[in-house]
Amino acid sequence: MILPITIYSDDILRQRSKPLKGVDSAIEALIASMFESMRNASGIGLAAPQVGQSLRLVVLDISCVKNYEQEKPMVVINPHVISVKGSCSMEEGCLSVPGVQGDVVRPSAIMLKYRDEHFVEHVAEFSGMFARVLQHEIDHLDGTLFVDRVQKRDRRKMQKELLAMTSGVIHADYPVVFPPAKPNSPNSNPM
Ligand code: ZN
Repeated sequence: MILPITIYSDDILRQRSKPLKGVDSAIEALIASMFESMRNASGIGLAAPQVGQSLRLVVLDISCVKNYEQEKPMVVINPHVISVKGSCSMEEGCLSVPGVQGDVVRPSAIMLKYRDEHFVEHVAEFSGMFARVLQHEIDHLDGTLFVDRVQKRDRRKMQKELLAMTSGVIHADYPVVFPPAKPNSPNSNPM
């Protein structure tokens, strides 16, 4: 099932997600829907808060990226970064921040402890595009967006788009869910 993607100003994208205790049929269905929603939006990674679930669950599939064609889709549950190495800058975008890109500096390799779709624990090192996408998605589980990590100069450039997004101007060619108006928001006041 294609699920709508939560957008920039949604509170769920700012919360720390809860760890999973296991994988039952409901989680299996959520994983399948996350893959479907990610591919429908031409994304290469998706975290559960981006489909409205505050859970420490990520899916990724980078096989559309040059030099990664042979890589299989991956499910990452309860990830924990044990150590990091190096540093590199790369342009990032996010399905929850449509139409906005910016350069982000991150470690170039990570040692990660995580569970797979069978809830089996792994410890493995990831580099290149894997390290990049995993760190972006793990950030989502901790309530951080890539726009928080771009340099001040770039952040100023994207400020107009972010502000427009907050007021509901969203250019996405996939289903999105705009957060409901807060009780104290001027939009909810008929005056
Ligand atoms: Zn993202």
